[in-house]
Amino acid sequence: MTTARILDGAPIASAIKAEVAEEAKQLTSRGICPGLAAVLVGHDPGSEIYVRNKVKACHELGLHSEQLTLPETVSTEDLLRLIADLNSRNEIDGILIQLPLPPHIDEHKVLLAVDPAKDVDGFHPMNVGYLSTGRPGLVPCTPAGIMEILYRSKIPVRGAEGVVVGRSDIVGKPTAMLLLNANATVTLCHSKTRDLASVCRRADILVAAIGRPGIITRNFVKPGATVIDVGINRVSDPEVFARLFAGNAKREETFRTKGSVVAGDVHPEVAEVAGALTPVPGGVGLLTIAMLMSNTVRAAKLRRGI
Ligand code: NAP
Repeated sequence: MTTARILDGAPIASAIKAEVAEEAKQLTSRGICPGLAAVLVGHDPGSEIYVRNKVKACHELGLHSEQLTLPETVSTEDLLRLIADLNSRNEIDGILIQLPLPPHIDEHKVLLAVDPAKDVDGFHPMNVGYLSTGRPGLVPCTPAGIMEILYRSKIPVRGAEGVVVGRSDIVGKPTAMLLLNANATVTLCHSKTRDLASVCRRADILVAAIGRPGIITRNFVKPGATVIDVGINRVSDPEVFARLFAGNAKREETFRTKGSVVAGDVHPEVAEVAGALTPVPGGVGLLTIAMLMSNTVRAAKLRRGI
């Protein structure tokens, strides 16, 4: 039985987008139209959909956007030249390099080449440094979205025990840093953490960013805790499906018709123990594009000292 309050990402994402649209309108009336350049290399179908959705969101919110699609065979040098050009153009405030890049491209070099002031993904070491020293900069979109869910759902962060499982540069580490900056007491866990369940049970706020379907079961969760499920896992193995969703008629129907379902890192049984829980799909995932739009407007303002 679900007792947890379900933290629906949709109204939060809509509210952020409405605020971004209003800010973009005000900036545009002052002659500044925030602009995002999305760079896509090759024709990976997943990446094409992501980039299309980002460009569409810009259009809906009144931001300028450009999609630059380069052939799969492009060299690192040509890509660096394109980034240098985007860095120099005043009408571009945000530069997004859609990952993954083809294996022959030096991804590290490419991401370092993006002007930190236009790094709307917040991946540049300069922005990582700003975040860890508590200075204004650009924060990675998914972690920023997690904080928006907490704030807008009125979950107390100050003084709370925060446990983050997963230490990736794009999710786990920046989320831990944002929680710390918001005065939570933070523990960052990973695959070598001893007795993960008991560490997680300390959490008032538990963030799962692991990439393993349903690994966080009820014995990882303190009754009443807030659980943020970042995982997006496609489940097509019938055994894994049964472990997570047996008896869930809606999911069973999707599994029958599509052959797979999307599952988070948190087992559905956690809804019986947690105080609040983000759903998958429909939770954190919905915030990422909203925060990218927000970062583009933020970059436009920061660059001009507004
Ligand atoms: P990642 O780079 O693969 O990192 C996974 C982390 O989980 C690593 O730190 C790893 O530890 C840890 N881990 C793996 N197995 C573990 C275990 N059994 N126990 C404890 N820790 C374990 O993944 P990511 O990019 O951070 O993404 C994590 C999940 O979030 C994925 O499902 C991804 O699809 C999803 N995601 C969602 C969004 C969104 O909602 N918009 C955005 C990005 C990612 P080690 O460091 O020790 O290997």
